[in-house]
Amino acid sequence: MEQKRILGARKRIALVAHDNKKKELIDWSVYNKTALTRHELLATGTTGRLIEEALDRSVKKLLSGPLGGDQQIGALIAEGQVDVLIFFWDPMEAQPHDPDIKALLRLAVTWNIPFACDRATADFLLTSPLMHESYTCTIPDYANYIKREMR
Ligand code: PGA
Repeated sequence: MEQKRILGARKRIALVAHDNKKKELIDWSVYNKTALTRHELLATGTTGRLIEEALDRSVKKLLSGPLGGDQQIGALIAEGQVDVLIFFWDPMEAQPHDPDIKALLRLAVTWNIPFACDRATADFLLTSPLMHESYTCTIPDYANYIKREMR
């Protein structure tokens, strides 16, 4: 049966940026500092530290991406503890943790959370009225997949 999940007005936003994309994410965060005060922030290790310094506010920091931070965020999405993902991944460079990146993007779609992988989409997302109100998110019905695994 289809399930619902409520994304509250105060969103839990996960932030991740690959090294060549960190400046872009920091610039975006600083530009949107006021809007972001209305939300909770969590991030992979290095991204989190840089955002903390740039915004002068606390950010929940997970492990660095290559050490498992992407997987931690994926797990939090699956547990319903992340509402929005902003993930500036680098399209020009292979990463040692490419499988983790693919897994994170897959889980964002699996659980139907809003996510942005570039600055333009992040701008559209953050300026959506839905960012500042409660939103009921529909989770697809995966019952058939679970049953198939059990056979
Ligand atoms: P980092 O991890 O924030 O610790 O650099 C991001 C990543 O490379 O996935």
